[in-house]
Amino acid sequence: MPNQPRCWLESANDPATDFPLQSLPLCAFQVAHHGHSHGHLGMAIGDQVIDLSALNEAGMFEGDDSGVVNVLRYPFWDAAAQTPGLIDTLRAKVREFMTADGGGQRARRLRDKALRPISDTEFLPPTRVLNYTDFYASVHHARTVGSMFRPDNPLLPNYKHVPIGYHGRASSVVISGTEIRRPSGQQSPPDDDPKAGPSFGPCKLLDYELEVGFVVGKGNELGIPVKLGEAEDHILGICLVNDWSARDIQKWEYQPLGPFLAKNFATTISPFVVPLSALEAYRCPAYPRPDGDPKPLPYLWDERNQARGGLDLTLEVRLQSEQMRSRGMSPVLLSKSNSFKEMYWTMAQMLAHHTSNGCNLQTGDLLASGTVSGPGPGERGCLLELTWQGTGPDGKPLPRKPVDLPTGEKRTFLADGDEVILKGYCEKAGSVRVGLGECRGRVVGG
Ligand code: CA
Repeated sequence: MPNQPRCWLESANDPATDFPLQSLPLCAFQVAHHGHSHGHLGMAIGDQVIDLSALNEAGMFEGDDSGVVNVLRYPFWDAAAQTPGLIDTLRAKVREFMTADGGGQRARRLRDKALRPISDTEFLPPTRVLNYTDFYASVHHARTVGSMFRPDNPLLPNYKHVPIGYHGRASSVVISGTEIRRPSGQQSPPDDDPKAGPSFGPCKLLDYELEVGFVVGKGNELGIPVKLGEAEDHILGICLVNDWSARDIQKWEYQPLGPFLAKNFATTISPFVVPLSALEAYRCPAYPRPDGDPKPLPYLWDERNQARGGLDLTLEVRLQSEQMRSRGMSPVLLSKSNSFKEMYWTMAQMLAHHTSNGCNLQTGDLLASGTVSGPGPGERGCLLELTWQGTGPDGKPLPRKPVDLPTGEKRTFLADGDEVILKGYCEKAGSVRVGLGECRGRVVGG
């Protein structure tokens, strides 16, 4: 790459790294100290985390009047996110520290304190997630799922006018690596015996949903909507989200009020919030709506959003069963897509819509895109879609087609011991690759 400064940490210069010097995504992690554990703030770089709380304690920011010294005393990024520009100022300082070639005792002392391997780090949620909202912005996902229920009319009439969403549950948002206990719940009578009553037991149709999260930086006052043109100023950055879903519980409970216990038992986030400013090279036009689609209402439409509201991001889902793990087999790729740029609504539109009635977003809130799927069969972001084969000539659903695992096992939905691994990254010729890291979760018996 031309004119890229070199980092003294070699892994940050690797063209394949998710975390180059340009990115410096935000994270929080656990540190043991005299028998107690504390939350520290850091940034990912190469295969390491730079411990900013430790550097702050060691005096690296002494004499700085930007406010950095104070915000780094908190175990969450919320305080820093409330001051516009502060995080970018801090990222610039860290970039300078990571490229400085000067020696001296003080520099060596700080370098010794600074780094710890990502692989040995126990991460914490990077912000206090007080609220979680989940959207439904992938038109490919909405169309495939809609066709399961309404083959002739998959999209409901509001879809092309309103960014559809619902309020999720923030208390069960967990960090990557947290075990996911299979939920139990009430399930509908069997289709072939509608006279039987509902039952209660462990979910049999457990699924993942591949989503992109965007974290709120600066909030808005109750009653004061955020304009579309200012919406991105309220986004701290993005992460990966697995919105675990219990399809059998969902099927029985969702009408008429929508998602509840099928969704609120767990949502996994990746540990790193990648600032939008690190993704500039990968911004792209919003999804070009097909001819004949309605133009959004004025509060959801502006030229800049059309020109730059999208993000060229590749997303992957992998699965590793218990048996694969015990036999040393790598996780198998279930889907890969570049369709986040084809979301029917951009992040800015979702955020502006969320506040259009005066609803107040708070720093650290998690907004998620909804399942990201592409139009092709290998691009579907959940098993509900991936194993769906459509309906037969009689209008009834064809049997689901299970996914084959390299052990000979088959999956229509998730089994106990299955680990789901989401990845996301931006890459193209002439630009530094920027990744989102991984979002992992393993299912354990309920
Ligand atoms: Ca979802």
